[in-house]
Amino acid sequence: MLDYDLHCHSNVSDGTLTPTELVNRAAERGVKVLALTDHDDLDGLDEARAAAAQHGMTFINGVEISVSWRVHTLHIVGLKINPDYPPLSAGLLSVRSGRGERAQKMADELAKAGIGGTLQGAYHFATNPNMISRTHFARYLVASGHCKDVKSVFNRYLVKGKPGYVSHQWATLAEAIGWIHGSGGVAVLAHPGRYMSGRVGMGKKTMRELLTEFVELGGEALEVVTGSHTPDQYAEFARYAEEFHLLASCGSDFHGPGESYRDMGRLPDFPLGCRPVWEAWENNV
Ligand code: AMP
Ligand code: MN
Ligand code: MN
Ligand code: MN
Repeated sequence: MLDYDLHCHSNVSDGTLTPTELVNRAAERGVKVLALTDHDDLDGLDEARAAAAQHGMTFINGVEISVSWRVHTLHIVGLKINPDYPPLSAGLLSVRSGRGERAQKMADELAKAGIGGTLQGAYHFATNPNMISRTHFARYLVASGHCKDVKSVFNRYLVKGKPGYVSHQWATLAEAIGWIHGSGGVAVLAHPGRYMSGRVGMGKKTMRELLTEFVELGGEALEVVTGSHTPDQYAEFARYAEEFHLLASCGSDFHGPGESYRDMGRLPDFPLGCRPVWEAWENNV
C-alpha cells in the first residue's frame, strides 16, 4: 500500500472537513505524505501544513485547477507549488471569479426545471463563497429531499445534458501548467478515467491527443491511482503513463465522510513499471 495521498479537498473548496480535520483524519488512517489540493484556491494550505506538523506528517502544497480543453473540463493538480507566487494566485483568482455568475445561472436553470431556492441553498453549504461549486448545489438538493445522495444529484441534474448544467470557461491547459511550473510545482493530469466515461466522455484517440498536448506543455504526471478509478483503470493508465513517459501519481480525491469514492488513507500500490511522481522531488533531496 502507498502511504502517500496527493489529492484531497477541505471546506476551502468542496470538501466538508476543515483543513485541520482533514489532516487529522489522514494521520489516523496511516497517511505519511499528504497534499491538500483544493479546487482553484490556496487558502487551506497554511492551516493544513500546521496541522500536519503536529503529526510529524510530510505536507505538500497542492491545488487542483479547473481547465477547459476543447469541449471537456479537465482538472490539473499542481504539487509542490509555491502559494506565494503571484501569477499563480492571480490566475486562480481569475478562475474563481466566474463561479458566482455560473451559480446564478445554475439556479435559474434548476428553477426552470421546477426546483427553486437553490442559489441560497447552495451558498448555505459553501464555507468559502468564492468557491461555490456544483457539489454545494448537490448537497442542498440532498438536504432538501430532491435526491437521495450527491451522486444521484449529479446524474439527474448537474452533468452535461441535464437541466442544471451550465457550461463554463475555465483556465486553458497552457495557463494551468504555466502557473504550476512558474511556482516551482509539478503538473499532474487528475483522474483521467473520468474524462473517458459517460455519453460525452472522450474516446481513446482524444485521450492520446490530450496526453500529447499535456506532455508538449511540460506536464509531468498522470494520476494512475485515484478514488474514482477501478483496478482495471489503474492498469490502463499505467500503460498510458509508460507510453507518454509520465510519472504516476496517487490520491483519494476525498471530499468528506460518506460522500467519496474512497476514504483517506493508504492507497493500492501502482501497477508494476510506474515511476512515482515523488521521484520528481525526492531524487534531489
Ligand atoms: P465544479 O468545479 O463546480 O464544476 O464542481 C466539480 C466537482 O463536482 C468535482 O470536483 C467533484 O467533487 C464533483 N463532481 C463532479 N462530477 C461528479 C459526479 N458525477 N458525482 C459526484 N461528484 C461529482
Ligand atoms: Mn470536488
Ligand atoms: Mn477533480
Ligand atoms: Mn479533486
